[in-house]
Amino acid sequence: DIYGAARANPVGRDYSRDSERAVAARAAQVGAADTIAAGPIVGGSLLAGTGPRPMTSPVDRTQLIGAVSEATPADIDLAAKRARAAQPAWDAMGGTARGRVLRAMADALEANMDRLIALLSREAGKTLNDGVAEVREAVDFCRYYAHLAEKQFDGLQPLTGPVGETNHLELRGRGIFVCISPWNFPLAIFTGQIAAALAAGNAVLAKPAEQTPLIAAEAVRLFHKAGLDPDLLALLPGDGATVGAALVEHPGIAGVAFTGGTETAWSINRALANRRGPILPFIAETGGLNAMFVDTTALKEQVVDDVIVSAIGSAGQRCSALRLLFVPEESADELIATLTGALDALVIGDPADAATDIGPVIDADALAMLEEHRARLGREATILARLDPGAWGARGDFFGPLIAEIPRADFLGKEVFGPILHIYRYKADELETIAQGLADTGYALTLGIHSRIERFAERIRALVPAGNVYVNRSIIGAVVGVQPFGGEGLSGTGPKAGGPHALLRYAVERAVSVNI
Ligand code: GLU
Repeated sequence: DIYGAARANPVGRDYSRDSERAVAARAAQVGAADTIAAGPIVGGSLLAGTGPRPMTSPVDRTQLIGAVSEATPADIDLAAKRARAAQPAWDAMGGTARGRVLRAMADALEANMDRLIALLSREAGKTLNDGVAEVREAVDFCRYYAHLAEKQFDGLQPLTGPVGETNHLELRGRGIFVCISPWNFPLAIFTGQIAAALAAGNAVLAKPAEQTPLIAAEAVRLFHKAGLDPDLLALLPGDGATVGAALVEHPGIAGVAFTGGTETAWSINRALANRRGPILPFIAETGGLNAMFVDTTALKEQVVDDVIVSAIGSAGQRCSALRLLFVPEESADELIATLTGALDALVIGDPADAATDIGPVIDADALAMLEEHRARLGREATILARLDPGAWGARGDFFGPLIAEIPRADFLGKEVFGPILHIYRYKADELETIAQGLADTGYALTLGIHSRIERFAERIRALVPAGNVYVNRSIIGAVVGVQPFGGEGLSGTGPKAGGPHALLRYAVERAVSVNI
């Protein structure tokens, strides 16, 4: 059963316990002592590439955490050649055998959990709890796609037909998939794309985000240690404009999976459209202008918890994160007072410290973009509350999360990727216009509704398109197999990550009719 697939919960961590905090502290220290060398990994070997470029932590700009070399065109050619040679046997092996390798990868991730969490916090600025959730999501992707490979890719699926003829449908891998992943889930989305492509019988050329190649290199090493033929998965780090473009234009590829910004998705789509030869599938998961609608019947405490975790948690660096909160003018003052109080109670600081709620943003460019937006809010909106990063601001790329009240419902216009909540007080008769305005943006990723009136929720759902709708809860943290994740329109192509149809676009379907 692909819809109700039984989930085995991956192991977790409980940082309210001294013993688990001690393990995290030890892992952070070990991590701090060694620096990681990343670069092109082809056939299981780390190649020289060009560079290397030193990598520093967003937590502390003076902390060297490793170095990364960029893949050369020759590295890409070599990786494609080896992938091409290895892929047919992998495809022919069938879903169950491939699933075994993915399950071994899931076990390897669990066995290395503390080290991976430490690296997530140093390279990507993730808090410990976000790190735990991320490793668990990577584990979930591997086990879930293993399950789908077993159910959907093992041998022939019987079809109906006339007497004297057998009809079967067979799913096969396409060949070599290019997987281009983002820095905000440098382990979970990186691993998830690769696991999906592999489960369906493909080889993979993976390009991690420029900001997070070290954790990607660790994941690739774990895949290989878990028993994957190294030729089936190459790591090709580098810039989107050079390495990304070379991968997407490479004559040997059979498809592209991408998670990142909408602009990049357009440029990949254009590059694919300009190719001669086979018409290639493109799976894109991009941004959103995610809103939450609250009505006067909503439970205030629940709204506040869910809004803070959705908008400010993970430093707002999720594509699912809440950007726009619509509150009824009758209850706005009270709600805003509680929200700003909750913001003030958050702790900003070292993400490797269990007491920290908010770590840094990913890099200096992200920080500059957010500061620019803050200046706009200062001029054109009202900043209601802001958490001061204090001394951390001088050390790393820390942005003080803030809550602002906007003068118009359509003030935002584009996704601002960070811990900023925009609030608009609506009058009851404005709802339709606001909803229509959101629909007109073309984004359709996540949508939140807080109300105890079912009809209110139904009405908003009908008006605002979104790939993931959440009622009376937070709008982040989709769980594999539970909330298949992904948007529509400008927000993505589907199929949803962690959903029952996730593997189908990575595959070709063949119908075989035999007259007997
Ligand atoms: N799946 C994540 C969530 O539900 C978001 C993924 C992303 O930011 O790309 O929060």
